[in-house]
Amino acid sequence: MGGKKTWEGWIKEGLDSRLRGNGSVVTGMGRKIRGVRPNPPTSLSAITIVVILTLAMEYETVIGLEVHAQLLTKSKMFCRCSTDYTNAPPNTHVCPVCLGMPGVLPTINQQAVEFTVMMALALHCTISESTRFDRKNYPYPDLMKGYQISQSDAPIGHHGWLVIDTDGKEKKVGIDNVHLEEDVAKLLHRTIPGEGSYSLVDVNRSGVPLMEIVGEPDLRSPEEARNYLMTLRSILRYLGVSDANMEEGSFRCDANISIRPENSPETLAKVEVKNMNSFKAVYRALSYEEERQRKVVAAGKRLFQETRGWVEDRGVTVSQRSKEYAHDYRYFPEPDLAPLVLDKAWVEEIRAKLPELPEERRNRFVAQYKLSLYDAKLLTASREMADYFEECLKTGQDVSPKEMSNWLLGEVSRIINESVIDITEFKKKVSPERLARLARLNSEEKISTATAKSVLGQMYQKGQSADDIIKAQGLSQISDTESIEVEITTAIEHNPQAVADYKAGKKQSLKFLVGQVMKATRGRANPAVVNQLMEKKLEEG
Ligand SMILES: [Zn+2]
Repeated sequence: MGGKKTWEGWIKEGLDSRLRGNGSVVTGMGRKIRGVRPNPPTSLSAITIVVILTLAMEYETVIGLEVHAQLLTKSKMFCRCSTDYTNAPPNTHVCPVCLGMPGVLPTINQQAVEFTVMMALALHCTISESTRFDRKNYPYPDLMKGYQISQSDAPIGHHGWLVIDTDGKEKKVGIDNVHLEEDVAKLLHRTIPGEGSYSLVDVNRSGVPLMEIVGEPDLRSPEEARNYLMTLRSILRYLGVSDANMEEGSFRCDANISIRPENSPETLAKVEVKNMNSFKAVYRALSYEEERQRKVVAAGKRLFQETRGWVEDRGVTVSQRSKEYAHDYRYFPEPDLAPLVLDKAWVEEIRAKLPELPEERRNRFVAQYKLSLYDAKLLTASREMADYFEECLKTGQDVSPKEMSNWLLGEVSRIINESVIDITEFKKKVSPERLARLARLNSEEKISTATAKSVLGQMYQKGQSADDIIKAQGLSQISDTESIEVEITTAIEHNPQAVADYKAGKKQSLKFLVGQVMKATRGRANPAVVNQLMEKKLEEG
């Protein structure tokens, strides 16, 4: 490096020397990856200090998500074809409009607009009075017309926000806009050994209303991204505007991810990641990508603005194409649709009809049922779970909200996770009435907690009521002292060593002897009663 050095030059030289020398970089899943410093300089000039500061630079991750949610309307966005295509034979839910024939005219689905206004309101967006549809032009075999009708600079909602929970702290994430567009056809790729590959087009999905929620790049980690998605999904389901099923493709997410030196306003090149079909895939893909970008920078290479696809089975992202810019799409107003004016009074009507949302319901659960904030959050994360909880309380079984919550968050959640089902499936086997009845039998000590848990497992498996199972198997708890005393005498006679140990001061032998009685009664004896009587008997003898 000759001539007069600029600050930038000094920093670059410092980086170069580091890369030539011990330029390895600490990597791992951690968000902050610090570069290893070169050999310590012998004297510290101001310039050296700048170089050292640069080498110790920490990068932060910047993530913004674009989410597409299919709307639960009966008909498509711009025609009367049914949206119920999942089990339909290919290319049966089609008409000249969604097939993209020349000369046809689209008409706007009012229900889709209403659903989008609902979501935009739930996300605290400003609702545009005057909105418009635009043509987004790009050639792709799944796009019947060669353009997609979407919204560019006049979306239905804009400038909103969403609160997510990370590490017990609340964080406000900006929503740039919520807009409406149409889904594209589905391509099915086939390979016949010896004959080669071909693709089939199914137009049934083309034209299904698709709401896009564009988030601000306010997320700082894959965990935050996952929380954001789960919160969005929960709101969509509370509103009933989308079934928001990621695995089935009715809820999709593309991520923009980049890194930047901490406290710097400028990020390095943005990478768009696609093909993530589950919450887990989003988390893994973003974790992989933030680390990859840091490694590229640490190796002294450049990052490029590009689109990368997540390859699930290999656990990597691969470059697909250099990223398009908005001007590549040649947006222009859709000439076949008049600008859409949203009447203020209509928007206010929709606002007044909004159902209770997860955050409100959570706060109500704390106030009304005296639950902890933690339990209330878990119960209200899904609308179905919150409904089930409240239905249990309405059965008149006189079980406290706390007890009911413990059953749902404990044993019921365990069964749901183990069986890989959701609460709706569970409810088909165990109605709220039956679960509340079981909880009451337990709270009245008719059955022990251990027995109640085992009974619940059987209720789920067999679809029977708790009373039937308890009766058939003789499981009711034994609390009468007479029959328990018989078992205590037997346990004492059969375990002289444990009795001697107890008398010699080994108090934990009591536990063992109580255990023998519980075993003999198959868990039906009331443990508190056994404990009390056993202690009394040992002290007497
Ligand atoms: Zn159609």
